[in-house]
Amino acid sequence: MSPKTQKQTIKLPSDQDISGRTFGAEEIAAVTEVLQSGVLITTKGRFGKQLEASFAEKLGVKYAYACNSGSAAVHTAIAAINPNPGDEIVTTSITDMGALTPIMFQGAIPVFADVCPKTLNVTAQTIEAVLSDKTKAIIVTHLFGNPCMMNEIMALADSRGIPVIEDTAQSPLATVDGKYVGTIGKIGAFSFQQGKHLTTGEGGIVVTNDDDLARRMFLFINKAWGYGDANADHYFSALNYRMTELQAALAVEQLKKLDACVAQRQKMAKILDEKLAGIDGIEVYQAARGATHVYWKYCLRVDDTKIQDGAVGLAKALKVYDVASAPRYVVKPAFKCQVFTEQNTLGDSHFPFNLARPEAVDYSEEKFPGTFKGLHDVLVLPINEKYEAAHAEFLADSIKEAVKTVRRGDAETRRHGESAGGCVVCGGNICQ
Ligand SMILES: *Cc1c(COP(=O)(O)O)cnc(C)c1O
Repeated sequence: MSPKTQKQTIKLPSDQDISGRTFGAEEIAAVTEVLQSGVLITTKGRFGKQLEASFAEKLGVKYAYACNSGSAAVHTAIAAINPNPGDEIVTTSITDMGALTPIMFQGAIPVFADVCPKTLNVTAQTIEAVLSDKTKAIIVTHLFGNPCMMNEIMALADSRGIPVIEDTAQSPLATVDGKYVGTIGKIGAFSFQQGKHLTTGEGGIVVTNDDDLARRMFLFINKAWGYGDANADHYFSALNYRMTELQAALAVEQLKKLDACVAQRQKMAKILDEKLAGIDGIEVYQAARGATHVYWKYCLRVDDTKIQDGAVGLAKALKVYDVASAPRYVVKPAFKCQVFTEQNTLGDSHFPFNLARPEAVDYSEEKFPGTFKGLHDVLVLPINEKYEAAHAEFLADSIKEAVKTVRRGDAETRRHGESAGGCVVCGGNICQ
């Protein structure tokens, strides 16, 4: 199957090293200033406060609190909502584990909603199917930088009085009807991990317009110590989730580059969209109506009735061009990971799953048709702000050529079945 000759390749910038990241003199100066000041803690330094003020201003929200990872940001958001043990938090079957385990650490049950197989995002329909009178919050993840259909989700959540947390780790500055994601629900949680748009290696931030949630989030990041209060105390169970001044200084400079980072990714995605349009067997992602996509990753859907071995086959064919891609993203839904299948939590208690309604922890495959279909079809391609037109064109050309080597003949395509027709989740009413 694999061609014998090595193809002409160019090296694509990688977000795992400086080739795909934008650290320059500004970051070096900021970090140097911190070191020379000798103040590395944000409770004493100026950069943590500056980052929070700048981030809040950029997003147009009242409050932003920096923390030391995206997982910490999600944890802080959940702790602010303050579920009781056994309360349920609806989340997505396809996300980073760092967005899920904080739910259990706060004693709540993650209840997985299915996703749209076209976007791998939860929808109002899939969320509604798993709501119960124990639902305390809904977490939506704008996967790959492509926003969820927030108008419908907010209408549902508001009608039930359930707060929405937006996991914005992969989608900073993405918009729905001109509003930044992360500011549409009650709380937005961002990650500054190595591979995210804005990076400090590890880091995160939470945003909100709600005074009470803001107070609890600030406290949760700070061991619930009432800084500045007349009779300060440790008010409730909380952690030290603060970032350092070194990270904050880096983030202040990275934030100034975020608009350009997003714009460049969008420009590169446009080249890819145009060059890949109309290739039989692969489909590019489209942002929902009224939304902008910020391309944490650039994804394709690969039709395995037309492409041998679908996304896996195409990924193999792309290796010939030195293009590393991730077929099936995280490969399996989150609920297939041991932490959920064996309920490995605190000691041998299985807490909080021992408090769960059986339906809330029923992970039968037939409940998740969109998840399995979506993961089966998706091919995740790298993209970052250091790409130039030549990189995008090389990537597109490599995909075009690779597709030719794995395309099935017409007869074989017919043998692999007429594509099943409508969407396995919405029947084509919403996503097609
Ligand atoms: C990266 C990521 C997280 C976790 O962030 P960390 O900084 O790695 O802890 C959470 N949710 C999503 C969707 C992510 O992509």
